[in-house]
Amino acid sequence: MSALVGVLALQGDFAAHGKMLRELGAEVREVRVPADLHGLDGLVIPGGESTTMTLGIEREGLGEPLRAYARAGHPVFGTCAGLIMLDRDHLGIMDVLATRNAFGRQVHSFEEDLRIEGIDGPPVRAVFIRAPWVAEHGDDVEVLAAVDGHPIAVQQGNLLAISFHPELGGEPRLHERFLGLIASASAARAG
Ligand code: GLN
Repeated sequence: MSALVGVLALQGDFAAHGKMLRELGAEVREVRVPADLHGLDGLVIPGGESTTMTLGIEREGLGEPLRAYARAGHPVFGTCAGLIMLDRDHLGIMDVLATRNAFGRQVHSFEEDLRIEGIDGPPVRAVFIRAPWVAEHGDDVEVLAAVDGHPIAVQQGNLLAISFHPELGGEPRLHERFLGLIASASAARAG
């Protein structure tokens, strides 16, 4: 059975995530209100603008439902503004602290070839757009990749967060990895 994956669709580039996930065989549901979380196998929080997204989450009363969803062990994948939303100062779902718009050397955007822990084959061509990095993280957070010594891909159990935009660069391997987390989590629940 294919996974049912939610994409938080209050603001940002949720449509590109939905397209990527469907191409990889997942079913996709856009999440706008708490009831939309019901029955999802995993959730993506997309890139966009973290202040606007925070206001949307407050308006819809999604903060506690999102935290409860993650606490239950469901896989969550945050990209760019999504990483910021997961940090200690926002939803407090991951034990990381993000610095917004961290890459002062290229204020708007840049691309970089990355080696990411656990992703084999050619390097990942990563698109960074006014991207954050991880300034601090707890001991149980694994750093999967860094740029100039700053973590930009991290994992904590079933929580995955990255600073860049694989959904815009046509790079499927991060979403594949996330679907792998979902498959393991579903198998663990079933078994
Ligand atoms: N700079 C944005 C923010 O702080 C994030 C940018 C992005 O998601 N591409 O919310």
